[in-house]
Amino acid sequence: MSEKEIMALADENIINTYKRFPIVLTKGSGVKVWDVNGKEYLDFVAGIAVCNLGHSHPQVIAAVKEQLENLTHVSNLYYTEPQTQLARLLVENSFADKVFFCNSGAEANEAAIKLARKYAHENMGPGKFELITMKDSFHGRTMATITATGQEKFQFGFTPLLEGFTYVPFNDLQALEARISNKTCGIMVEPIQGEGGVNIPDDNYLASVREICDRHGILLIIDEVQTGMGRTGKLFAYEHSEIKPDIMTLAKALGNGFPVGAMLATDKIAKAFVPGNHASTFGGSPLAMAAANATVKMMLQEGILEHCRTMGDYFLLQLKKLQQKHKIIKEVRGKGLMLAVQLNIENGDIVNECLQRGLLIISAGSKTLRFVPPLIITAQDVDQAVKVLDEVMEGK
Ligand SMILES: *Cc1c(COP(=O)(O)O)cnc(C)c1O
Repeated sequence: MSEKEIMALADENIINTYKRFPIVLTKGSGVKVWDVNGKEYLDFVAGIAVCNLGHSHPQVIAAVKEQLENLTHVSNLYYTEPQTQLARLLVENSFADKVFFCNSGAEANEAAIKLARKYAHENMGPGKFELITMKDSFHGRTMATITATGQEKFQFGFTPLLEGFTYVPFNDLQALEARISNKTCGIMVEPIQGEGGVNIPDDNYLASVREICDRHGILLIIDEVQTGMGRTGKLFAYEHSEIKPDIMTLAKALGNGFPVGAMLATDKIAKAFVPGNHASTFGGSPLAMAAANATVKMMLQEGILEHCRTMGDYFLLQLKKLQQKHKIIKEVRGKGLMLAVQLNIENGDIVNECLQRGLLIISAGSKTLRFVPPLIITAQDVDQAVKVLDEVMEGK
């Protein structure tokens, strides 16, 4: 099919839930992707913080191929070794004692919400079911997770929402503490808000949220779907704060592009789930586990986290230099390779012009440019991206 045919038939046959850029991608390798006409792009989107090891990572491909030829899917009625191995790996490298596997971020957060409610139901007494979440948060697109998401634009048209959620501004400890009532069972928060605009809280924020949770005997659920898997320069972003959450959710980069999600918890909390309470047909399938095992192992072995911090610092510095030159840049911010440029104009033209010049970037809100490239980018890749941004911003 030609490029035109592919786009026209897609629009004719696929439900219109995505506003797409007019390109058809066919191949990816490392930090690059190519479209159907052979045009090359520098990919600073990485499937929205998914392909953290870069496209077509050889070890991930090899692991999936080998698993594909042995056993693709059975059911959680049976044990499989890849699932055991990944659970072990995640437990050994995090605060958690136990893992539940699913297929996406929204599902991981659904599992977290259900587990928090079940735990509260059994351990905190009746009437404690409310979760406090943050304004401008993003937790997914299912009914429970759009309810948890503190942005009306994702909820509009889908009411009635779920009961038992209330919202406070991000990075506001006073508002948070003031909202805790005899109904509260927990707080759900992203260490850095991704979709909401790459909003970075004060250094002590997460630790203070932990302290508030401890003082009130409620649960701390952190959504690391976007910040996890090395994105901010640590395997999990909570590690910057030297605290431990009670529940954590993962997805996006966990399988480097293979769909997989996970909800992790301490033993004490995880015990609230017993057989029959929660399940997923595809959750923890051998194929997804093979991809995730290879991804996590690579991430731990190859000095990738250190490289991410170095490149993140370098990228941030270059963006700050760009800010000196272009008055449309209001602020630059970031941690590791989760970065943003806050503009004082709408960002649509800039994203489109970058695309035309072979650089893929995304927005996060209407005036924010977001950069979540593969963690394997080089200084040359950063220079190239900054050069394109510089050219595109010229005269704006
Ligand atoms: C992307 C994202 C989700 C939703 O993940 P899906 O896999 O799209 O369901 C949830 N939380 C955060 C923080 C995310 O960035």
